[in-house]
Amino acid sequence: MSKKGVLVLYSGCSGVGKGTIMKQLLARDPSIRLSVSNTTRAPREGEIHGVHYNFVTREEFLALADADGYIEHAVYCDNHYGTPKKQVEDMLAQGYNVFLEIEVQGGLQVMEKYPDILSIFIMPPSLEELERRLRGRGTETEESIQKRMAQAVEEMKYKDRYRYQIINDTVDRAADEVLSLLHQQTK
Ligand code: 5GP
Repeated sequence: MSKKGVLVLYSGCSGVGKGTIMKQLLARDPSIRLSVSNTTRAPREGEIHGVHYNFVTREEFLALADADGYIEHAVYCDNHYGTPKKQVEDMLAQGYNVFLEIEVQGGLQVMEKYPDILSIFIMPPSLEELERRLRGRGTETEESIQKRMAQAVEEMKYKDRYRYQIINDTVDRAADEVLSLLHQQTK
């Protein structure tokens, strides 16, 4: 049987570019798998059920929470998000290194459960740059941008709870740094 994989907690503010870094990590290291979360948020254009998220109803979400089916779950900008337990455990057992790309409330729950977890917080070079990136994405309403900026300021307060903070100045450099932390752990 293959060696059990490493679980990685991977957080950062919305719009910081952690999804872009993640794409590069997946392309560069075949041992990495991204956990697919359940969410009650509506899909954005181009998002595929089962790939980006499992888009579920509130009832479905709460039923799995009642059945203790999540490693963690949280409410973010009025929607529920959660990491299905079974999926992650199966991938780790198969030897994959599994990344949980989740916000900080869920991150804190994961740290409680796994105190030694490799935890990484992706930071924007500045809050001004973060706002510019959120607007540039063109998928959010003004109200949503304001909400996410306020949330980002709040989330930054938790950065020091993570073992490593990485600034996303360029995607390549940030990805290098994440891979080097992972490879130290899997050596
Ligand atoms: P978005 O709506 O932009 O896709 O995600 C909003 C926030 O929820 C992001 O910070 C994202 O990382 C986080 N998120 C995604 N899936 C989960 C999850 O399963 N649990 C938690 N706690 N946060 C999640």
